[in-house]
Amino acid sequence: DLVSAAAPLPSVSKSNIEHRWSDITSYTTKKKVQSWFQLPNGNWELARIVKTAGSESVISLPDGKVLKVNSDSLIPANPDILDGVDDLMQLSFLNEPSVLFDLQYRYNRDMIYTKAGPVLVAINPFKKVPLYGNNYIEAYKNKSIESPHVYAIADTAIREMTQDEVNQSIIMSGESGAGKTETAKIAMQYLAALGGGSGIEYEILKTNPILEAFGNAKTLRNDNSSRFGKLIEIHFSETGKISGAKIQTFLLEKVVLVTPFFIVLCHLSRVVQCAEGERSYHIFYQLCAGAPRTLREKLNLKDVNEYKYLNQSNCYSISGVDDAEQFHIVKEALDIVHVSEEDQESVFAMLAAVLWLGNISFNMIDNENHVEAVADESLINVAQLIGCETVDLNLALSTRKMRVGHDNIIQKLTLSQAIDTRDALAKSIYACLFEWLVEQINKSLAVGKRRTGRSISILDIYGFESFGRNSFEQFCINYANERLQQHFNRHLFKLEQEEYIQDGIDWAKVDFDDNQDCLNLFEKKPLGLLSLLDEESTFPNGTDITFANKLKQHLNSNPCFRGEREKAFTVSHFAGEVTYDTTGFLEKNRDLLHLDSIQLLSLCLCHLPQIFASNMLNQSEKTVVGPLHKAGGADSQKLSVATKFKSQLFQLMQRLESTTPHFIRCIKPNNLQSPGSYEQGLVLQQLRCCGVLEVVRISRSGFPSRMSHQKFARRYCFLLLENVASQDPLSVSVAILHQFNILPEMYQVGYTKLFFRTGQIGILEDTRNHT
Ligand code: ATP
Ligand code: MG
Repeated sequence: DLVSAAAPLPSVSKSNIEHRWSDITSYTTKKKVQSWFQLPNGNWELARIVKTAGSESVISLPDGKVLKVNSDSLIPANPDILDGVDDLMQLSFLNEPSVLFDLQYRYNRDMIYTKAGPVLVAINPFKKVPLYGNNYIEAYKNKSIESPHVYAIADTAIREMTQDEVNQSIIMSGESGAGKTETAKIAMQYLAALGGGSGIEYEILKTNPILEAFGNAKTLRNDNSSRFGKLIEIHFSETGKISGAKIQTFLLEKVVLVTPFFIVLCHLSRVVQCAEGERSYHIFYQLCAGAPRTLREKLNLKDVNEYKYLNQSNCYSISGVDDAEQFHIVKEALDIVHVSEEDQESVFAMLAAVLWLGNISFNMIDNENHVEAVADESLINVAQLIGCETVDLNLALSTRKMRVGHDNIIQKLTLSQAIDTRDALAKSIYACLFEWLVEQINKSLAVGKRRTGRSISILDIYGFESFGRNSFEQFCINYANERLQQHFNRHLFKLEQEEYIQDGIDWAKVDFDDNQDCLNLFEKKPLGLLSLLDEESTFPNGTDITFANKLKQHLNSNPCFRGEREKAFTVSHFAGEVTYDTTGFLEKNRDLLHLDSIQLLSLCLCHLPQIFASNMLNQSEKTVVGPLHKAGGADSQKLSVATKFKSQLFQLMQRLESTTPHFIRCIKPNNLQSPGSYEQGLVLQQLRCCGVLEVVRISRSGFPSRMSHQKFARRYCFLLLENVASQDPLSVSVAILHQFNILPEMYQVGYTKLFFRTGQIGILEDTRNHT
């Protein structure tokens, strides 16, 4: 995992806040104030400077140790009075150890939220903290509390939505286990409390347990890890009441796009295999543990350890979680979002069918490795659960119809082909089921036709991923994160900087690292990663090796790209370098659906398989490989997974760009999922990756308060003691500035506006009010 492993530091840290430190250091050592000293283990300790001689200082550490160190290695610490300030911008010395210490100071006192200028930093407490509930909601609503909080962000979003009639978005980011989903739920609670009344808010909150059951799983990093991304758009009426909501989910691997409102991105391979110590989606375990007896009998349910899809990873339970109890919570939630009893039973039947599919095994029938399914209870159960004949199921799993020249032939499958077909069917059923469920939920929450300019969207999408081995899934996820990072950058830095430049003010340019180069590496046509992947996917003879070679051939001169040995390549992402292994890239990108499986589902007597089949046919008209296509050949017209993913991502970005964004950066303080432990190195790396350090630095080194010449002149001209020769607003403004002896470094005069450092306008206002 990128942030916990010693990943290379992101490029943003090059242009660090430390560039002014040498001056400050000499000040610190002269005045003998306290400083930060970095211990060999990388942690920072508060040191007192005992004496300084030449370039050396003698310091004493809290444990009493006295050391002689190079003065340059000391970093100034803030005076005690600034301990635990609730906005990092208030720190006098704005260096990395001071930021880390401030967050740690607050975290130790259960103050898990801190502002970094416009961004909210949320540190996962991994325990219940007394910061939520109706009393707090009331307090934030009445503004009787001002400390940073998700509630405060949600409140600002509601206010700006109402005042400006502009849609808002709240964007969570952070690595797995950092608290994005929990934080999103807390924001939803606030919106539901303030916009409640119609009852629909209750339904909206109940979508969480459903989506988590079907889309979350226990991984090594998070017991409740979301394996899909989600955008929920909550609509408000003119009177400020919630009028409906719409959910978009993003799943990977099998991209199932039904309406413009669904982007589906998820690690579906989890359905058929998961790593040691991890689990498949929660719902499978909940069903096996919680189904009442009649349902168990109907579905022929066994214990979890009897299903091959669930028993390979040696992990069946999550500490502190009762799967049976969760099953009842999910059932109740399904009732609330109006999924009928009959539909619920069909959903459970599909889940059981997936589990039984995994237990289907194959027998060799000739000496060419061809197989057919063993006619045991697994085959019978699957056929019964989806409503087809066992013969048809067997045929669909062990043969493939092909057209060769003018003839239709039936090709027998080998063992590995049959297993792939079986697993693909299981994944398709699960993907379709998830998508169908979201569709039902959306029907229940349906938003009226009128678009009001009154909605708040909450985006909870997984963060950057870098593992020991990175595949197509990480490739897509990291590409999406690269885009989201640009959205963040653009909003917070670029717009700000461009405004300075546009107004022609003399502002020492902050060396701001945009990630456009990396995005170009992905998106450029025809020589970008995505185009080259698509091109190679359409060649019948293309393989992962030819793909990797093509990348090296065309992209090696790109500074964000590096070809690696064998089939790998490395991309320099904003958050660090990631090496991708191209194994499986082409196959996953082609995402061929075999017509035989779809035909099987369409012939089933049960209604869900029929719906699934027609959905798959509709979406994949161009992606299906079947008798109409040549053996092994791929249709050049079809849309690849990467292309669909890219266009969905663009749709998402477009939607976000039409909103006023509010960013919440979630931070995981340790890798143990336990309270009370704060690992400085781990936190620091996350702060860098998500741009928090940059935000603070840029905001402070800039001129955050602005006013047009006209407005400034009008507001303060009556304070002028002397007449100004020229009456144009600029001359009047300059005269005011001079009269009040505002130091030249505290303001800048732009073409249209005056720019001030923090605090300056406050001083002028004070004078104005007392004149
Ligand atoms: P993933 O990317 O894997 O989905 P995530 O960022 O969504 O991770 P969460 O599932 O929200 O992470 O949080 C992980 C766990 O941390 C939660 O199950 C919960 O135990 C704890 N947690 C997170 N935020 C809070 C909070 N505000 N208060 C208490 N516990 C929290
Ligand atoms: Mg999550």
